[in-house]
Amino acid sequence: SLTLGIVGLPNVGKSTLFNALTRNDVLAANYPFATIEPNVGVVPLPDARLTKLAEIFGSEREVPAVVSFVDIAGIVKGASEGEGLGNKFLANIREANAICQVIRVFDDPDVVHVDGRVDPSSDIETINTELILADLQTLEKAIPRIEKEARMQKDRRAPLENAKKAKDILDSGRTLFSAQSEVDSELLRELSLLTTKPFLYVFNADEGVLSDEARMKELRELVAPADAVFLDAKVESELLELDEESARELLESIGQHEPGLYSLARAGFHTLGLQTYLTAGPKEARAWTIPQGATAPQAAGVIHTDFEKGFIKAEVVSFDDLVACGSKADAKAAGKVRMEGKDYTMVDGDVVEFRFNV
Ligand code: GDP
Repeated sequence: SLTLGIVGLPNVGKSTLFNALTRNDVLAANYPFATIEPNVGVVPLPDARLTKLAEIFGSEREVPAVVSFVDIAGIVKGASEGEGLGNKFLANIREANAICQVIRVFDDPDVVHVDGRVDPSSDIETINTELILADLQTLEKAIPRIEKEARMQKDRRAPLENAKKAKDILDSGRTLFSAQSEVDSELLRELSLLTTKPFLYVFNADEGVLSDEARMKELRELVAPADAVFLDAKVESELLELDEESARELLESIGQHEPGLYSLARAGFHTLGLQTYLTAGPKEARAWTIPQGATAPQAAGVIHTDFEKGFIKAEVVSFDDLVACGSKADAKAAGKVRMEGKDYTMVDGDVVEFRFNV
């Protein structure tokens, strides 16, 4: 499955956040056969629609989609030079599908900042510089080779031009993700660059920042087009120790209406380019993970490869129509249940039953 790699400077709250991510029991309850790696945190994607579906279909349980985060050893200045930790760090990050940067915005005189002061934009620059330098090294090695190939093979000319353009962007201090409209990331794929991956920024904030809309807007703009999530990692880990009532009180006391891990899960899911569709029956109401833009047969294949191979049709009703009608039978009677073929592109919130040959 797709993963987000958690990176950030030392002492910004990565371990605190990661511990909160790993301390949930959803996986154990719903995926008893999944092996859980020690450095992987799996969080459920909150989805209130499942509760509603379970009501309508009398389902025994709800199975949400999940998002996986991998803890990657802390980045330090000089990581791109590949000394010790650097090499391992870059190898780990290459395996992740997206980069989740934890940035410190909380003030706490007891927690030392590596550069002596809390400065989110400078911290982001430090991390991005290491990633950019690593990509520049890759390109500097690759470009002469692609140049040689392009002399013999016409079809290598476009990749060459694109690689040179990428180098210019990196030379100007920008990530390839932030300049995605200027390069063809398909043509760069063969190089496994780091900064073409989607970025997500988690601002580890305190109450002061979480209630300061103007400050959060400023930080959002700093990292656009990447998603930004604001949470207090310390509070998130405390929430998991509390019963529902006390947890709600603690959240309310810092002006929040839901745990920050919920918005982190949603943003992570979005950053990875994923969406869900829903199935429901007496056994379970379930959200299934598919890439945005997946077709009906591809969606069926997530349940079982035989469903994709033998795909005939998908019986689809939108979640909103289903709820408005009150039951599948009533939705059918109202003409809200559609039969979709193999070219149908799935829409988030589709409630589906597949017809297939075995
Ligand atoms: P890492 O080095 O990035 O993994 O950082 P840690 O998670 O170990 O956190 C470093 C220190 O900062 C620890 O003492 C944490 O308790 C503290 N810390 C982490 N998150 C917060 C936060 O949101 N607010 C405050 N005040 N302290 C935090």
